[in-house]
Amino acid sequence: MTVSADVHAQQDASALLPGATIGFLGGGQLGRMTAFAARSMGYDVHVLDPDPACASRAVASRTITASFKDVSAAIDLAKQCNVVTLEIEQIHPDVMEAVSQYAPLRPGRDAVFIIQDRIRQKEWLFREGFPLGAFVAAHSSDDVADAVRTFGPCIAKSTHGGYDGRGQVRVADPALGDEAWRALGGETCLVEQRVSIAYEISVLVARRPSGELAIYPPSRNHHTSGVLTWAVVPAVIPDSMTERARSMAADIASRLGIVGLLAVECFVTHDDELLVNELAPRPHNTYHHSERGNATSQFEQLVRAVCNLPLGSTELLAPAAIVNLLGDVWLQPSPPAITDALMVSGTRLHLYGKTTAREGRKMGHLSATGINAQDALSRVLSSYRTLSPDTTDRFDVHEPMLVPSST
Ligand code: ADP
Ligand code: MG
Repeated sequence: MTVSADVHAQQDASALLPGATIGFLGGGQLGRMTAFAARSMGYDVHVLDPDPACASRAVASRTITASFKDVSAAIDLAKQCNVVTLEIEQIHPDVMEAVSQYAPLRPGRDAVFIIQDRIRQKEWLFREGFPLGAFVAAHSSDDVADAVRTFGPCIAKSTHGGYDGRGQVRVADPALGDEAWRALGGETCLVEQRVSIAYEISVLVARRPSGELAIYPPSRNHHTSGVLTWAVVPAVIPDSMTERARSMAADIASRLGIVGLLAVECFVTHDDELLVNELAPRPHNTYHHSERGNATSQFEQLVRAVCNLPLGSTELLAPAAIVNLLGDVWLQPSPPAITDALMVSGTRLHLYGKTTAREGRKMGHLSATGINAQDALSRVLSSYRTLSPDTTDRFDVHEPMLVPSST
């Protein structure tokens, strides 16, 4: 048998080969970076996003400007695509249903429907027996107050649309239950006990239509006021915790029937308990370092999974870290010192092409590799401090010692 015939025999008939068109619901930075990966592999990219100036526009050959509730616009997208994926979970179920009539939607409607509502997601995880912090669905301000009485300090979260710590209110006093309830719009919300966190990790899983999985090494993550500041691999945690987290994430992805990517955000408590915080059925901010550290970036992996190509290796080739660049960096009296920041050896700059800087808006990130996790983190944080000394304290861009809190 010739080599080419051999290769042909191994190809899955349902693989979508380069030349096919991938549709994206959502054109933010996650879609943009996935679109770059898709383009490098020879795919065409179409996008639907409400913002005509969305980050993916520069990479897509067609951009439809429409809301994520617009069924006819979504059908228009799907009709011209061989597969449709998403980079945001807040897509109206009717849109997901309609897209599925014209092109495979990966991940599918059922998994995204569970994940897109915080209460539905928590209740699903609870029913499936995954470890969670204490939580309750609150249908009134009295429910919020009762939760605080029962659990102690809590965080109340909107069921839909919250991200980067938005749509969340901390409440430690039952007397302030009503204030929290109103701050979230007076609608049913999720109230979680505030977990005493030793450290935060996430695990990214890719899954093909066949059920084949690729699991990434856990990322160690640091948030400031609910927004990711930095992430690093390897996570510098005990091997036993790595194994627990990887196998739990794989189990969740399989039981949800994800096709594409699933990120599982976790808390590890001071008692070494591993708890699921939340799920995301798409590329994830905490795995932007996979472009630097892993054999296959999360973006290429998503393309492979939704096109039913063999999944790439998740092997860690180099310790790698990222730090987010929020709009605040551009709103200081002095402009970001980009050329100085790039003099820190091992660092790279990633910008998302957003022209308007707003406080808290994710504009880009810095990445770095190093000889170990501490070194990669040290480089990227020192690059950040050079870039934006004025925001260093606010976003807690100080170097911690990465030592496991337990063994
Ligand atoms: P988002 O969708 O904005 O990422 P998360 O629920 O993941 O919302 O919350 C953002 C961050 O806020 C978490 O990564 C964690 O640092 C903190 N946080 C959220 N929920 C809790 C909780 N129950 N206990 C302690 N910290 C929490
Ligand atoms: Mg989160």
